Amino acid sequence: MSRHWSNPDCLIPSRHVFGVDQTLKSSYLLFSITVIFISGCGQSDTPAESADSSQSAHPQSAQPHSGPPHSGPPQSSAATISIDALRTHIKELSSDRYGGRAPGSEGEILTLEYLQKSFRKAGLKPGNGNSYTQQVPLTSVEVTNKPVLRFSGSDNHDLQLSYPDQQVVWSRQQITSAAIKDSQMVFVGYGINAPERGWNDYEGVDVEGKTVVMLVNDPGYATQDEKLFNGNAMTYYGRWDYKFDEAARQGASAAIIIHDTKPAAYPWTTVSSSWTGPQFDMVRQDKGSNLALVEGWITYDSALTLFNKAGLDLATLYETARKPGFKPVDINLTASVSLNNEINTVNSNNVAALVPGSEYPEEIFIFMAHWDHIGTDPEIEGDGIYNGALDNATGTAGLLEIARVVGSLKPSRSILFLALTAEEQGLLGSAFYAANPLYPLRNTVGGLNMDGLNNFGPTHDITVIGLGMSELDDYLEHQARLENRVLKPDAEAEKGYFYRSDHFELAKLGVPMLYPNSGYDHTEKGTAYGLQMSEEFTANHYHRPSDQYDDSWDLSGAVQDLEIYLQTGLEVANSRSWPQWHDGTEFKAIRDRQRQAAE
Ligand SMILES: [Zn+2]
Repeated sequence: MSRHWSNPDCLIPSRHVFGVDQTLKSSYLLFSITVIFISGCGQSDTPAESADSSQSAHPQSAQPHSGPPHSGPPQSSAATISIDALRTHIKELSSDRYGGRAPGSEGEILTLEYLQKSFRKAGLKPGNGNSYTQQVPLTSVEVTNKPVLRFSGSDNHDLQLSYPDQQVVWSRQQITSAAIKDSQMVFVGYGINAPERGWNDYEGVDVEGKTVVMLVNDPGYATQDEKLFNGNAMTYYGRWDYKFDEAARQGASAAIIIHDTKPAAYPWTTVSSSWTGPQFDMVRQDKGSNLALVEGWITYDSALTLFNKAGLDLATLYETARKPGFKPVDINLTASVSLNNEINTVNSNNVAALVPGSEYPEEIFIFMAHWDHIGTDPEIEGDGIYNGALDNATGTAGLLEIARVVGSLKPSRSILFLALTAEEQGLLGSAFYAANPLYPLRNTVGGLNMDGLNNFGPTHDITVIGLGMSELDDYLEHQARLENRVLKPDAEAEKGYFYRSDHFELAKLGVPMLYPNSGYDHTEKGTAYGLQMSEEFTANHYHRPSDQYDDSWDLSGAVQDLEIYLQTGLEVANSRSWPQWHDGTEFKAIRDRQRQAAE
């Protein structure tokens, strides 16, 4: 069994943000392929808002909360999160029987049965017509030749870059062969079109059918100028997935990013190992025909040679690309490459259950968590089962417990519970839901994603990845304050964690989303202890078979967090307000248009 690393964003962070799944994603699917994916890391913006409780923000909650904040140990009554029920769910879902919950495996069947049974018992309605499941067809595309990327100019000496030492190219189009021939080339700076920031790297150029070449990250990071983009903190525009998508929107046939270790935050070896081997994606009805035919990365050294050949100075282009007013530059060369692809499919499922709103049933708040994990690797010593107890049996268990409580209530708006598949393969279950929502996104008020819960006891704080991005923070902050707890921003905003878990797939289509994580400041043992616990998990258990349930886990902190998540969702569901993205966020314009269309 070969092992590939896929779609990296960052290496394992020095400080683990629980369950972000920001690092190495792996999967052992039906065919004996081992793939390791990295999907996302998140970002936080301006944490100022929630830190200041005096301005409270407290949203216009039209109705009282459905239950008082609990105090004392959690009871097994319907109205509060039960620590025993939580433990039972985690133990069950992470047991060996489930085989690491890989999409398309026997473990998926068991997981779906368990989730449906639990939702039904809690009195929830099927979320998809009369079904609790939403089929998610997945596909993988693997380049089977070793494509040579060729650049030609007026001289007779083509520059040829070898695969995968100097370049990696692939196609997200789900077709057995893809080629570009003598495609004109344009340098488009950072490849960013951000109308709300008055920045367009494609200004005045038609790249239809051409090959665009661009830099990684964004001008804010490059300059460390807090007034440019988000300064050091990565914006969505800094991410490779944005850059490839934007190139496609501009009509480019091929999109190439110049690798640069520091702004990318990972070395070339991560790129070359990640984007080779099977690349999973949703099955696309149009086979991805709206995407660029070829996408890829080239090494920094190859880029130097390339621009040299074109009579251009890469260092100068780096300088101009980061300044406002940058104009795209023709590269006096053409690009050619030819790919052969092998395509496979796997069928998986999201699980959806609904508590219909008593007054505004068409308006939806979503609680979500991914049910999947990495599966079983028979080549690994021991049982090879990636039990995924923390990641994400805990989040899934939390989803079931919140559902059980909400199932006994009558929120004004509907609350949808989504257990998503294929997060570990690159947020595919959530991307599928966002593309095929069971309830219109324009009527989806907001949501909250859980990916890994606290297993080391109560904390004073809650980490919020992407704190400061939307007014949903205000609801969470309000509920946290009632429990004498505080919200803290993610400490590694430059790594862009906000863009790397399931909530993001809805966020990027406009829906305001919360992504809270475990805090660190343990109520008795302090922050050092919380950090030690999280670092210990990252070093020894993250995406390893040893992420197993242990009876010594202290779930009282998870219960406290879940109570706050529960009350936050209820507060939104019982209000008449529509929380918005803050000005300057990437998703505000799309949401504003969406809501205007709805009203
Ligand atoms: Zn996860």
